Amino acid sequence: MKSLEFHKNHWQQKCYILLSLFTFLFGVNLSAEVKKENQVLDWDGNRKQFVHKNITFEDLGLKSKTNYILENFSIYSKLEQEPIPLEQVEGNLKLLTLGFQLRKIESRFKTIVTNAGIKDKNTEFNPKVRIRVDAPFAYSPTDYYDSKVSLKNTALTIPPAESNGTWNSELWFAPKWDLPVFGTFAFERIIDTASCPDAIYHEYTHLITGKYLGNNAIGRSLAEGISDYYAASLLDHPELYTHKTCEAVKRQLIVSAFRLDKEIGIYDANIESDFKKDFAFIPSLLWQYRALVGSELADVTIFQAIAKTNAGDRFFPEFINTLSDSLFTEVKKRNGEEQAKSLAMQLESKVWIPHGVYSKLSKNQSVFSVFPKSSVRLSNSDEKSNEFCGQKNELEFYWKEVNLEEPTLRFYWNCNSVKLPLIIQMDQTNPMNYLFSSNLHFLNGKLKFASQNADKVNPKLSTENQVLYLQMVNYVKDNYFYRKTMEKEVRLYLDGGNDASHIDTIRMEFAYLGNSKKRFRYTFPAVKDGVYGSGI
Ligand SMILES: [Zn+2]
Repeated sequence: MKSLEFHKNHWQQKCYILLSLFTFLFGVNLSAEVKKENQVLDWDGNRKQFVHKNITFEDLGLKSKTNYILENFSIYSKLEQEPIPLEQVEGNLKLLTLGFQLRKIESRFKTIVTNAGIKDKNTEFNPKVRIRVDAPFAYSPTDYYDSKVSLKNTALTIPPAESNGTWNSELWFAPKWDLPVFGTFAFERIIDTASCPDAIYHEYTHLITGKYLGNNAIGRSLAEGISDYYAASLLDHPELYTHKTCEAVKRQLIVSAFRLDKEIGIYDANIESDFKKDFAFIPSLLWQYRALVGSELADVTIFQAIAKTNAGDRFFPEFINTLSDSLFTEVKKRNGEEQAKSLAMQLESKVWIPHGVYSKLSKNQSVFSVFPKSSVRLSNSDEKSNEFCGQKNELEFYWKEVNLEEPTLRFYWNCNSVKLPLIIQMDQTNPMNYLFSSNLHFLNGKLKFASQNADKVNPKLSTENQVLYLQMVNYVKDNYFYRKTMEKEVRLYLDGGNDASHIDTIRMEFAYLGNSKKRFRYTFPAVKDGVYGSGI
């Protein structure tokens, strides 16, 4: 009992010492705050770290004498109705940093938008963007906030949503939840997402890009990649969400810091649907683009590409192509066509192709350049079908429409006067597979009915033709397709000499011949076209 009490006392004593120490430290801080010095954390590009900087209220361009309202932002604490009173802002490092960095990114984007020649006033918000710091709960589209889900260590952008009859854009910053350990207990280390320029920049970029990429774009690979790109580019530093740029930040969805200047490997189409698979790929590739063309030109041309991007566009091939076009057009305007071509080609060979993507400029390096340029009719190689297609029995291939955006070959089986539409869908998980440089010998595809309701007969057909149509459908099902999948693997063999880029013919047949040997074999003459730069 005695010894326990002793321990207790001893422990209390220890606590007292620690408490005194904390009181002392806080005391130092408090006495500093008495002076109400207005400081912000700003990124020092040369020292690659945060520095404290004194500012005045005038620097923030306040639009109210009583509350924290800026030209395009009103800043609230938690879920309060009124913006934060200015007395609370005074001397508050976090709140001042937030307003200061919002103004900074806003002004950077104003310059980018102007230099990009875009007329939209997209940095103006009416009503003002509602910023919430220490937002305790997650956003809920129906109830505004969801009291069951607390917001922790994160920041999020809420695209224009209706609340009380007005359409508001909002940025929410969660309260800081992890206590700093003793060793890092220093004034300049105590920051949360609301005072992290990279997190602020990332979220602000969503507000701007959402106008083009669609308000549902947040969380999609392209929008997330672009937000990370601009966060890094405007800091001029390729490492994000670390203790250096943003202590303890784990923003929504992404939970780790990362560098944009690391090896990123080859593009994988799966990142388009799930950006968490590889969130570093897009911003890192854009970072390499920036390294090649220069920061100012990169920021401007990426923005021009965003302005021309539609909600459904993927990073590859649409965005890559739009960006390539923007670069060519902008450099042509600034320095002439020669330089524009040269830089656009360097972009292909040094940045895009090594990472498995390419624009239309590299069309002549892809298999699409050798595909026939018109539709081709060939007699049906499956002679058994002559039994019921006595007058006419041919396949009509629509090669013209096969391209990178939609690598699907459509064709009709024309049997007497009945047409059955079919398709061959080429495998597109890795676009490198379309490049000759990847030692391409054949392409894989899947033969399917063009329609999911192939069994449904067109009632406009004569009774006789309706019977024939169904006979054709059943013939394909019985003789070509696998029962389970209702499709069949097809290969397009690229036959030529020893030179992989020289293709004479395209030979189409089933990948696994089985019992339908020779039944599906067609040969097409390859076409040579594509001159560097002709696609622009
Ligand atoms: Zn985001």
